[in-house]
Amino acid sequence: MSRIIYVNGSYRPYADALVHAEDRGFQFADSVYEVIEILGGKLVDATRHLVRLERSLGELGIRTPMGRASLQLVIREVIRRNRVRDGVVYLQVTRGEGPRDFAFPDDEVEPTLVVLARSQQREKNNALAAVGIAVKTMPDRRWGRSDIKTVMLLPACLAKDAAKQDGAREAWFVDSEGYITEGASSNAWIVTRDRVLVTRQLDHRILGGVTRATALDVAREYQMKVEQRAFTRAEALDAEEAFITSATNTVMPVVRIDGQPVGNGKPGIVSQRLRSQFHQCAEISAL
Ligand code: PMP
Repeated sequence: MSRIIYVNGSYRPYADALVHAEDRGFQFADSVYEVIEILGGKLVDATRHLVRLERSLGELGIRTPMGRASLQLVIREVIRRNRVRDGVVYLQVTRGEGPRDFAFPDDEVEPTLVVLARSQQREKNNALAAVGIAVKTMPDRRWGRSDIKTVMLLPACLAKDAAKQDGAREAWFVDSEGYITEGASSNAWIVTRDRVLVTRQLDHRILGGVTRATALDVAREYQMKVEQRAFTRAEALDAEEAFITSATNTVMPVVRIDGQPVGNGKPGIVSQRLRSQFHQCAEISAL
């Protein structure tokens, strides 16, 4: 079965799914995106993702390509055509195409919309969560508006690759004051020795993760103590548990930071409980 991508109004096989060479997404990373989990053929937390997409577009003054209901129809059609049961749907919206000029085009251009869906093996991710992952800390060299989900991901790619070279799955960024901001493609959390969940407060330095928001709902449901504040690398190394959250991982235990074990070096019970209860609290929408 050949995979199908939606590009600007049509569903095409991969080889024919083209975006213009002077698209501002390609030229300037003038573009935003979303990744939504697909679980058993259903969308996880679609509303929160689509609200965030609208916010990202609004912050950059990129036109909305279509209303939320129409976008949902496109997403559903892409998932259906690619027969994805478990995986992710990826959406990208760019400002559109125009002669290469840093300033925005004077004329109203049509935004470019790309939607694709990909299967992912749930068992693989569960197997990884059973042992946990390693993370590597490094300076946060991204721009000052990491709260907008742009495709300007080169610093994140460099960080992830450096982590990979060191045998780690994720990079944890550290700001100029020594506080962890977030992961290269996830939010960062610790559980202190007195069982308090800590994750950085929402500000311009981090993306407001949808999985982060739903994990906070789970924590509330189970009356876990939560503090939304910055934490240092030293505090993380001293923590009982650590984990990351993202749509592709849900809750993924972190068992090593810069080569040093977190807690007893195994996935902790708080992280495991958040992971096992996650989809109970998330919005699951039928297609
Ligand atoms: N922070 C960054 C920098 C990310 O790229 C991501 C995932 N795209 C996240 C956090 C997690 O966001 P979400 O839970 O919405 O996937």
